[in-house]
Order: sequence, then structure tokens, then C-alpha cells
Amino acid sequence: MRAVRIHRTGGPEVLELEEIDEPIPGRRELLVRVRATSVNHRDIWIRRGHPHPAYRVAMPAILGIDLSGDVVALGATVEDFSEGDRVTVCPYLPCERCTFCRRARPQYCPNFDVYHGTYADLAILPARAALKVAPHVSDEALASFSNSYITAWQMLVGKARVGPADTVFVWAGTSGLGYAAIEIARAAGARVLASAGTQEKIAVLERRGVGLVVNHHEPGLVETVTEGTGGLGPTVVFEHVGRATWERSLTMAASGGTVVTAGATSGDEVSMDVTALFVKQLRILGSRLGTMDDALGALGHLEAGHFDPIVGAVVGLRDVERAHRMLEEGSVVGKIVVKPT
Ligand SMILES: [Zn+2]
Repeated sequence: MRAVRIHRTGGPEVLELEEIDEPIPGRRELLVRVRATSVNHRDIWIRRGHPHPAYRVAMPAILGIDLSGDVVALGATVEDFSEGDRVTVCPYLPCERCTFCRRARPQYCPNFDVYHGTYADLAILPARAALKVAPHVSDEALASFSNSYITAWQMLVGKARVGPADTVFVWAGTSGLGYAAIEIARAAGARVLASAGTQEKIAVLERRGVGLVVNHHEPGLVETVTEGTGGLGPTVVFEHVGRATWERSLTMAASGGTVVTAGATSGDEVSMDVTALFVKQLRILGSRLGTMDDALGALGHLEAGHFDPIVGAVVGLRDVERAHRMLEEGSVVGKIVVKPT
């Protein structure tokens, strides 16, 4: 089978399309034919060799954590799946042994692992990370689902507990995670405002019904958002950008509001005014990926047709290197989906 692997960290050129042996599923694993996957910033952090242990993988590695696929073979002890099942993945793999896991709080497992391995014709998937999916969901939508929608669900539903009384501001609303946040906040009944970095991206969000979209490269963004929220500011700021937006997130948030974050695409190191933080009584919530419960909650909405991810490009396995460059440049509006066939 074909797989895109990395043998070392580095630029997009370390992604190599190779012919390798077909994997054999272990006792508790599924072998899945990959219909589609997509590229995520997480893949880029791993490829570049981000120093945080959460981004460390054994080499050679097949990256890719999103999946639309069909089960083609089963391990000996797998019971809940059959050949031909349409599946996706919840990439967050808690250890199942620590205090947090044993007390039904797997989101806080300190020994978690993250699934990867879908930049290929076939992927091995632990049965405990697999979810069955209804056949009517498109491959493009399902390949845009796991990393973005499960993560955003945990951030907004699990952490910020978003509801109809909230006004949610989403940075970079056409990004995979950003658009997932817009759709989940809307599904929870909240009002949504967003930012985008180009006129084209702003127009896409406006066409998809986001009432106020501001350009995050232009001055006056905080003032515009404050005006657009009746002078109060958003009750929830959805952060995943980091250095370039952090101070503005804290400045715009409503009194007693929440800043929830699960990413730092522009840089990890930020500065902030601690006095402004505590006088305004803000809550800063960190989050990462999401559990099987989050996955099931979000998947229900995807299957019901409530979510419609923005797909900006579809490429083949031989173009994964190019897809990484496109994601790094921000040149595509929406997700970049990879289809092996
Ligand atoms: Zn654990």
C-alpha cells in the first residue's frame, strides 16, 4: 500500500510517499481503507518537531488524525464492528489506568496518546477509538470532523458550557477549528461573531450567515467587536491563534467572560496584563482534543446535517507535501482534504 511517512522532522519535504507492506490489525484493532483524511496544524507541529511531548511520535511515522474509512479487517477480539462498517476516529487516547481515567475524567489523563496514521491507503485503528458513521455523511465532511469538531466541542460544550445567553467570538473562522466552533456555538443557541484574514474569507463566512465578521489584520478589531456586542464584549472568546491574538482576546472579553484555548498557531509565548485579568474576573480555560463522549455528541450533529465544514481543496496522497505548504501559508479557505484514491 501507499503511505506518506516522515523519517525525520523538518520542512514539508520530509513527507515521503512510499510503498510499504499492508499492516495487519492487532487483536483489538481495525484495518480501515482510508476514503479521505485531512491535514491539520497538529501534523505540522509534529513534522517540524515541536518541543512539547504531546507532539512526539516514533519514526518512521504516518501522520494524519482525521478519517473517513471503511473497515476491511478486524482483530481477533473486536466485537462491536464488522467488515464494511463506515468509521471515523476519536484521536484522543487516554491511558485507561491513571486516577483520572479510573474516575471517569479521561479528558484530564496525564498519560494520553494521540492517534495518527491516516495519510495512507490503509490505516490501523484501535477499536476503542473508532466510531461508526451513517453512510449519508460525505467523505469530505467526515475527513474534516475529528480534530476540529471534537476539539471545539470539548472547548465550547465541555469547558465553556456555551448556551443561548452567550455571545461567542471566534478567531480565524474559516480555519478547520474556527468553523467547527462557529457551528457548535450556533447549535448551542449562542450568537456568533468571527474574524478572518482576507476579504475572500470574510465573504465566505458572511455567505454562511455569520452576522459580524472582522479582519484580524486590521486595527480597531476590539472596538468593532465591542460595538457589535452592545458595548459588553463577547462572553466567550474562542482562542486557537496564540501570540497574534491573545492580548486582544483578553481585552475584548466581557466582564466575567471566558477565554477558551486549544491552540497557538501564531506562537506559544504571549504577554498579558494580570491585573486587567483579575479585575475583569475573566476565566481562562485550556483544552486539548476531546473524549469519546465529545466525539459522540458532535457526531450526532454531523449525522443530523447540522454541521457543514468548509472544504477548500481536495488533493491526492502524492500532494500531501503541497497540502502542508498550503496550510502553512493559509492560502486555502477551509479544510484541505486528502483522498488516497
Ligand atoms: Zn489516564
